[in-house]
Amino acid sequence: MSRPLIADIDLGALRHNYRLACDQAPHSRAIAVLKAGAYGHGAVECANALADVAPAFAVASIEEAVALRDAGIEQPIMLLEGFFDAEELPLIDAHRLWIAVHSDWQLDALLAFQPRTPIPTWLKLDSGMHRLGFAPEAFVSRWQRLKAAPDQATDLHLMTHFATADALDPGYFRRQMACVEALRERLEAPVCLANSPATLAWPQTHGEWTRPGVMLYGSDPLEGANDASRALKPVMTLRSEVIAVRELETGEAVGYGGRWRAPRPSRIGVVACGYGDGYDRHAGDGTPVLVEGRRVPLAGKVSMDMLTVDLTEVPEAHIGSQVVLWGEGLSIDEVARHCDTISYTLMTGVLPRVPRRYRVADTV
Ligand SMILES: *Cc1c(COP(=O)(O)O)cnc(C)c1O
Repeated sequence: MSRPLIADIDLGALRHNYRLACDQAPHSRAIAVLKAGAYGHGAVECANALADVAPAFAVASIEEAVALRDAGIEQPIMLLEGFFDAEELPLIDAHRLWIAVHSDWQLDALLAFQPRTPIPTWLKLDSGMHRLGFAPEAFVSRWQRLKAAPDQATDLHLMTHFATADALDPGYFRRQMACVEALRERLEAPVCLANSPATLAWPQTHGEWTRPGVMLYGSDPLEGANDASRALKPVMTLRSEVIAVRELETGEAVGYGGRWRAPRPSRIGVVACGYGDGYDRHAGDGTPVLVEGRRVPLAGKVSMDMLTVDLTEVPEAHIGSQVVLWGEGLSIDEVARHCDTISYTLMTGVLPRVPRRYRVADTV
């Protein structure tokens, strides 16, 4: 028997969530965001699982895109931040990638390049995220430069990213949307605006394309969940087992620094999963863990290879008991809140030493 920790990846759940993203925006096409190894789920496996339904994929780097091409993925692949160096342009051309253009140096490099076929280009508007993109007053002239270069750039879209689409207070979101609407009308531009929270909560963002990411993996990105977000299914279930059990007297401490002390005679279970696997070391005492399907509290600091839970209320737990760290039966969003983080960091943080086991999608 080898170490029991495993990340089960349910590709049927991925397809369910993708379909849900499409149902939310029935007049848009959904580009499935597969960056960062499909948020830790395995980009090639996820792309294959969606290959017959998703018209395009998105990643953050040419390396990620070429890996998908090498695996036989034929859909258009969007580079969400475009290229980082003009030397990528021949590869972009050869692999038929789509690009975002967010800066003047990229625009100049693209217009100086002679592609075999014009490159589908999404011009990025900074509508208020203040990270990438052209300010509204600069956007129009850049759009016109691209329009005037049909040998270099084709299929122009306006792209922007929302800073607060997940939040209950819609004020900032509405200002970003008003900025988009003004330019969209003036330029008659097709648009791609919506990340997961906007896909779920803001129909006015749907446009020609949506760009759902985290919702595809079953995390609910909304501060105030809605019916659609509640219907998401977890794709990754991080499973392990109890590998040791010990009885403690009142007052005895567990783990590094003795952070947790037994408030009563207690039974402690040791689980094979630690921060060396990507489990967040910031997880506080009380972070929920499922043992034999029952919720038990984390007790003591997370170590590199192990963590400890209080099994006092689950007398049937034993060495070999099944453990779920997050996934089926235990929402990754809830675990993330206990770690003072978001599901995105937990998913993308599952380290390579954790074997991924894929459950194939039903053909529904
Ligand atoms: C990552 C990313 C997305 C997907 O965001 P989610 O919140 O995971 O849905 C969409 N657009 C861009 C530009 C991104 O970088």
